[in-house]
Amino acid sequence: MYHAGEGPPAPAYGPDAPFPVVLVSPYELGRQPFGLAEAAAWLRDAGFAVRCVDLSRERLDPGALHDAGLVAVHLAMHTAGRIAAAAFGRLRELAPRARLAVFGLYAPVNDAYFRELGAEAVLGGEVEPALVAFAQACRYGTGPEGAAEAGRGGGERGPEQGVRLDKIEFRVPDRSGLPPLPSYARLELPDGGERIVGFAEASRGCKHLCRHCPIVPVYDGRFRVVPREVVLADIRQQVAAGAEHVSFGDPDFFNGPTHALRIVEAMHAEHPRLTFDATIKVEHLLRHRPHLPPLRDAGCLFITSAVEAVDDGLLARLRKNHTTADFETAVTLMREVGIALAPTFVAFTPWTTLAGYRDLLERIATLGLVASVPPVQLSIRLLIPDGSRLLELPDVRELVDPFDRSLLGWPWRHPDPRVDRLQARIADLVESASEQSREETFAGAWRLAHAALGESAPILPRDLGDAIPRHSEPWYCCAEPTGEQLAGF
Ligand code: SF4
Repeated sequence: MYHAGEGPPAPAYGPDAPFPVVLVSPYELGRQPFGLAEAAAWLRDAGFAVRCVDLSRERLDPGALHDAGLVAVHLAMHTAGRIAAAAFGRLRELAPRARLAVFGLYAPVNDAYFRELGAEAVLGGEVEPALVAFAQACRYGTGPEGAAEAGRGGGERGPEQGVRLDKIEFRVPDRSGLPPLPSYARLELPDGGERIVGFAEASRGCKHLCRHCPIVPVYDGRFRVVPREVVLADIRQQVAAGAEHVSFGDPDFFNGPTHALRIVEAMHAEHPRLTFDATIKVEHLLRHRPHLPPLRDAGCLFITSAVEAVDDGLLARLRKNHTTADFETAVTLMREVGIALAPTFVAFTPWTTLAGYRDLLERIATLGLVASVPPVQLSIRLLIPDGSRLLELPDVRELVDPFDRSLLGWPWRHPDPRVDRLQARIADLVESASEQSREETFAGAWRLAHAALGESAPILPRDLGDAIPRHSEPWYCCAEPTGEQLAGF
């Protein structure tokens, strides 16, 4: 473990020798990571020799790390943070001369922990200029103190934790050196066909303040648009690399609906066969409903929407700004428009009751959405990361156990232990059911939910809904890292 001022001697890079930087992505839902490619573009423009490693698709190459001067790990999601935390020691071993940094959404909320593990820079938000500043401090030998200072400084920043929200001039992401697109998650179509998926971002951050959302502690209600020409150039290079479908990773595609529409209309004009999906909240689906037919006409196959719950009290606690009735209206609306809806849920929270969980399953079934919901969504347990606005709620503060570094979160136990037992059983069911259909796994959850209440499970409706296009690696925000994921280090 190194702290500022205690690092190994700086490697003797000559003034003209390229300074080696290794960017590492532990996991990003099986998509080729935008965050790594954008950082690579900035660092290469600044003259650094950048190597990108995506551990979801390749093993860490000790040879690549040995001479690295800087290793920066991208923490785009909670699972990535947990993989990185487990593997930081190994990284330190393999890159003995490098200074270490972490960046991305899950870096600043775990600032103290990653600094203890040896990271000298912990950067979140619009990080690229600060990452370049830190690399330059490493490169030009301002010493570990200077490097650490660059990691914290480098322009205006948030009050703590190295968050940068200054508007930056986005570059076209540099995807060279990342594994090829066909090696990433595919789009699976209901007719059995598959499409190669590209991954683009048209904005970062979010203008909303949902209490449970990990974006809020970093962006605090702000979002930043990626210029249209940059997004279109990134899509163009991914189509040239084989992309047949683009997944937009924006936290909410309709934070800037006009921006989003202009992009997909231009994209469609240039690539008429290209399809896409995006994430849009229920509130925006209803408010911007006139924009939905143009999305469909531009090739939108499905929209992921963080519905979270079908309990209005719970939705109000999470500050979702929609009700259960709004969700049902959105289901009808999307069917009328002809875009599939893939709802996501936080199935287990401290306020979820056994009956409430059963009601959630019942609502999914009666709305004909069983085939639209990835089974992992039936088991998701509320994550409370550090800085979460949920900790503003007195009952949450009373409920949580001390911060658990291995979980990168505040653990909580349900006041009714039967709910925690049910969640564990559903998680086991989902994990062991990878070969089952969504309908079979749902039926298993249905039986478990009723058994937990001491009820016999009624027969499910015959029509559980049609299959919709889906990614071969499902969307979620947090899950236990698997042994395979940890093995990448
Ligand atoms: S949950 Fe969705 S809408 Fe709410 S703050 Fe997060 S990204 Fe924005």
